[in-house]
Amino acid sequence: MNEERKTLEQRATMTDIERLRHSASHVLATAILKIWPEAQFAAGPPVENGFYYDVDLPHRISPNDFEKIEAEMKKEIKANHPFERVEVSRDEALALGNKGRLAALSERSEPSKFKLDIIENIPADEKISLYQSGDFIDLCAGPHVMRTGNIGAFRLTNVASAYYKGDEKNPQLQRVYGTAFKTKKELDDYFAMLEEAKKRDHRKLGKELELFVFDDDVGPGLPMFLPRGAVIAEELEKLAKETEFAAGYQRVRTPHIARESLYKKSGHLPYYAESMFPPMQLRREDEEFETKRKRFDELQVIVDSKLESPDEYSEFKHLQYELLESDKYYLKAMNCPHHHKLFAAVPRSYRDLPLRLAEYGTCYRYEQSGELFGLMRVRSLQMNDAHLYMTPEQFESEFNAVNEMYLNYFKLFGIEKYLMRFSTHDPSKLGQKFVDEPELWKQTEEMTRNVLKNSGINYVEVPNEAAFYGPKIDVQAWSVIGREFSIATNQVDFAQPRNFDLRYKDRDNIDKIPICIHRAPLGTHERFVGFLIEHYAGNFPLWLSPEQVRILTIGDDPKVVDYARSILSELRAHQVRAEIDESTDKINGKIQRAEQMKVHTMFVIGKRDMDAEAVSVRVHGKGNLGAKPRAEAIAEILLSIKERRAE
Ligand SMILES: [Zn+2]
Ligand SMILES: [Zn+2]
Repeated sequence: MNEERKTLEQRATMTDIERLRHSASHVLATAILKIWPEAQFAAGPPVENGFYYDVDLPHRISPNDFEKIEAEMKKEIKANHPFERVEVSRDEALALGNKGRLAALSERSEPSKFKLDIIENIPADEKISLYQSGDFIDLCAGPHVMRTGNIGAFRLTNVASAYYKGDEKNPQLQRVYGTAFKTKKELDDYFAMLEEAKKRDHRKLGKELELFVFDDDVGPGLPMFLPRGAVIAEELEKLAKETEFAAGYQRVRTPHIARESLYKKSGHLPYYAESMFPPMQLRREDEEFETKRKRFDELQVIVDSKLESPDEYSEFKHLQYELLESDKYYLKAMNCPHHHKLFAAVPRSYRDLPLRLAEYGTCYRYEQSGELFGLMRVRSLQMNDAHLYMTPEQFESEFNAVNEMYLNYFKLFGIEKYLMRFSTHDPSKLGQKFVDEPELWKQTEEMTRNVLKNSGINYVEVPNEAAFYGPKIDVQAWSVIGREFSIATNQVDFAQPRNFDLRYKDRDNIDKIPICIHRAPLGTHERFVGFLIEHYAGNFPLWLSPEQVRILTIGDDPKVVDYARSILSELRAHQVRAEIDESTDKINGKIQRAEQMKVHTMFVIGKRDMDAEAVSVRVHGKGNLGAKPRAEAIAEILLSIKERRAE
């Protein structure tokens, strides 16, 4: 967590809801002081979905205290105090702090120790301001709502411990969390969403529906898809392959490891080393190795002058491989360097561009164990990756086509709310955080901005958060219940094509460097399947459903069973994921089992169905749809799958 103090610029961009929530933290502190006047406060910022205030207090606050604290907060809100800003000199602020008057209702015997420390750290040229609401005075740069009465509805949510400034050498404080909204309805909707999200938790459903597992012997953060989960990943892959083929992509396949030199060239080493698995070394360097290297160098001279004998040439090749093996090898953390090598493998001309190389590439990233979270944060990722190489003139239409692909996927999956975060560079950090190419940054950022504007895509621009080799776009999507997910990243790259010396012959017969776009609209299988589980609450549309049809027989008449089996064969011949339950259990028990596994469609088959060459159709979540002719029922299934219908 970022424990740094917010800059004035950051404060100026605080949204209305952040102001409201931060204001609520002042009210929280006021309420705590009314009950425990000795409380000492540190920082109280808004956070994602709420706010907190860190407090040092001998009494251990527990959720049992929330009612009491909330009652005091309500009084403050009802009193509708204005938030009044007072600018003070550094000396005045320190004097008040020494009298215990900061983050307090009155002067106290103990100084406001954390606030005194915060004053010390305010830059000399920054104005110091206090905010007063009722008796409560706090050291704060704002901003707030106008009056406490503007805080519509709030609730305290939990209490945790936190070190002052996030440093474990500092005292441990109690962090009291809450959330606030403009209206009671918004607050209620938020908690209802959380309740629903708990039921949809992909880790819980993943287990119940037998979609994926983790295993300690395999390792943390390394999910394995069970057959039912693998089906979803395969369907997504099929979708991506069809979509990309139609859009002129070509598929490639690359190994999961590569020599260190590849990642040095790409610039991922050393900058990205912490996120990569440690390297493998196949052979250690020793004396014998040194002798071989010398011999290799001799042979190199001979080969270069084309004077080698066949024996010398084969010795040269043999040694070359042996020396390459002594290098470090890395598990790949990204597919780009391999793809760049494929671009360079063949001479390219402007006629070959745009070249779009796609691969569902498996990458490995060393995420900190504390960061691992279900399928959302993992160490092995199967990525819907592709790298597009193009001339600058082609950039706009290529980038636009990528965005169109996103929007089509959103429509297919019923994702109605999304946001593209367009991260740009900070010119003052060129050469450190960002590749030192001021002109290219300007150009590509402008082109990207134009495309986003012209296509009416919902986006925000975030300065200073670009990748080190170019501007990027992070795509956030909200599931049907309003939960937010980071799904994918798009990056413009003008540095790596240079590092890899990628070139194409332009019309004027001059070698030029292509621009590259990295894109992964479906993100990784891991994260996207996790998202879909929660989005659909496990009730997948037919085309994605792990088990599309289950045939349930009534009774044990061998003729009925044969009829049911013939339907199974027909469905399977059409690649429908169909199963049969021909056990002698009661039909209600069979239906219940299928419902539990959220099987999409059930064909219930009794003697009457057999006689009429029909099936009785039941759809999960919809119930009994009645009997239909066999051919019609099967045709409907096939059409729904083919069209990837949302039902
Ligand atoms: Zn404040
Ligand atoms: Zn890439």
